[in-house]
Amino acid sequence: MYEQDTIAAIATPPGEGGVAIVRVSGIDAARIAQQIFTRSRGKNGILRSHMLYHGSIRDPQTESVVDEVLLTIMRQPRSYTGEDVVEVHCHGGAFLSRQILGLILTQGARQAQAGEFTKRAFLNGKLDLAQAEAVLDLIRAKTARGAELALNQVSGALSIHVSALREELLDILVQIEAAIDFPDEDIELLQRSKLVEKIYRLAKKLCVISATYEWGRLFREGAKVCICGRPNVGKSSLLNALVGEARVIVTAIPGTTRDVIEESINLDGLPIVIWDTAGIRETVDQVERLGVELSRQYLEKADVAIVVFDGSEKPTAGDLALLRFVNEKKHLVVINKNDLPMSFSADDINCHEREAKVVLVSAKTGVGIDPLKSTLRELLLDHQGEPEVVVTNVRHRSELIRSAESLQQGAIAIESGLPPELAAVNLNEAREALEEIIGLVNNDIILEHIFSNFCIGK
Ligand code: GDP
Repeated sequence: MYEQDTIAAIATPPGEGGVAIVRVSGIDAARIAQQIFTRSRGKNGILRSHMLYHGSIRDPQTESVVDEVLLTIMRQPRSYTGEDVVEVHCHGGAFLSRQILGLILTQGARQAQAGEFTKRAFLNGKLDLAQAEAVLDLIRAKTARGAELALNQVSGALSIHVSALREELLDILVQIEAAIDFPDEDIELLQRSKLVEKIYRLAKKLCVISATYEWGRLFREGAKVCICGRPNVGKSSLLNALVGEARVIVTAIPGTTRDVIEESINLDGLPIVIWDTAGIRETVDQVERLGVELSRQYLEKADVAIVVFDGSEKPTAGDLALLRFVNEKKHLVVINKNDLPMSFSADDINCHEREAKVVLVSAKTGVGIDPLKSTLRELLLDHQGEPEVVVTNVRHRSELIRSAESLQQGAIAIESGLPPELAAVNLNEAREALEEIIGLVNNDIILEHIFSNFCIGK
């Protein structure tokens, strides 16, 4: 699985740039560096680890200079991969970096596969699997918070947590194994109920951690919020008030906003994409009908729907039908035009829907917009504070769920007085799921899948 050869790749993206980096890792990395690099000052003796040298890359066959570069060597084990790593920082541009890579390959290195540097870091114990995967999340992070969460995981926050839970599980397994080894001493009733309680407690902890995935997703990808309501209730005005600028044209003709308009805001660190939709109502107008259909689609994709009503008018049958339509979804109700005499109160809705969160605002004067923002944030995050550890990877989430489910099955087996061997099967499956998160089980298929998602050079 792990070849002791030397790999090389261009680590920076293709195209023109200030600097490009060619990376080499493996037993021959230092020798190759000595062969193609000439220092501009000092003797070309042994290159010291973790120093940056100025010099030139030369073709050893023709002696011609390819580029003026900075070169560093990080000797094993103090490097990203745990092997000798050389980085050549050359002038940016596809041609030069490719020429340098070509020279390195002719000296005996081989082109690295996608993610192979990180895979070597994993195989050499520099990172566990959860940390290695977080490197990918870090590269792909779209928001500052997403990068922060991924970085936290690269430093091992999730791995530490999962390892501690695995230890708890091993303790439980020891007790079950004892019951298997000494079948005459049946697990006492009291001991059995304590064991079951421990298993459920552990399963609960796993569920709590796996649920943080949703929390992390909102920060990583941004939450999606859809403003809906019948035409002319003030949806576009509300969007403008939330964004803080007049971006959407507001007119008094019902059905003006026929396309979906997208704006982004930052709610105290939580990135949010808001869609202002055409308004949902029955209509015969062909164009408007398309808009209404589009609104429905966006509504379905949203994490939260904001249903807007015009507080200066009595709720219409259409308003109440819309409320029923969004009932299954996380939503909040905004009663707008609070600056006008109100003919609509929260009770008008609450008799139709018990749990509705209602905020009174005036999109025109801005009154109620800040409370609306904090209600929206709370609703999106389910009132949760920052979790101790956040799962950012869908594979980790499903392994945590698999582990929790196996634990529950094990607990049921013990509760039902089935032979301890059966519970041990479930608990071992739960243990394996946790071990697959941190990579204690070397499953080639999983590794292949994970690292093939990386770019070449990482
Ligand atoms: P939409 O069709 O739901 O997007 O509604 P608009 O945002 O286009 O607004 C429709 C009309 O209501 C416009 O004439 C707005 O100026 C007016 N309007 C919107 N919000 C308020 C508000 O809070 N107070 C008052 N008095 N008028 C508003």
